Amino acid sequence: MKRSIGMKSSYVLTQKSVDYEITKISAGNFALGYETKSGLFVVEYFGRSDTDLNHEIKKYIDRYERFKFFYASSPKSAFVKECKNYHAFDKNKIVNKSHPEKPENTDYECPYCKQ
Ligand SMILES: [Zn+2]
Repeated sequence: MKRSIGMKSSYVLTQKSVDYEITKISAGNFALGYETKSGLFVVEYFGRSDTDLNHEIKKYIDRYERFKFFYASSPKSAFVKECKNYHAFDKNKIVNKSHPEKPENTDYECPYCKQ
């Protein structure tokens, strides 16, 4: 079964494209990967930023081909969404190997495993 990460279409991962697409300074979630010939976005890695999505995604330029992103209304909702993705994806198919970390100086709990 294919899982949707619940984000819009993917963009090429370059400095220019990140600046063009992510214009808000905001917490959010992103997925990195590539697109198949039939246009399917394959997720290899996902992550989040608690403060500045644009800045965080740029760390991955040259390591992945494409990105998708989604603004979050708060660091907490970005964390919960990242946890959801982490528990939903087949661990053999993604680079993420460890559980998402809580935003700094918070005691938010993952709602899926209570960690
Ligand atoms: Zn969890």
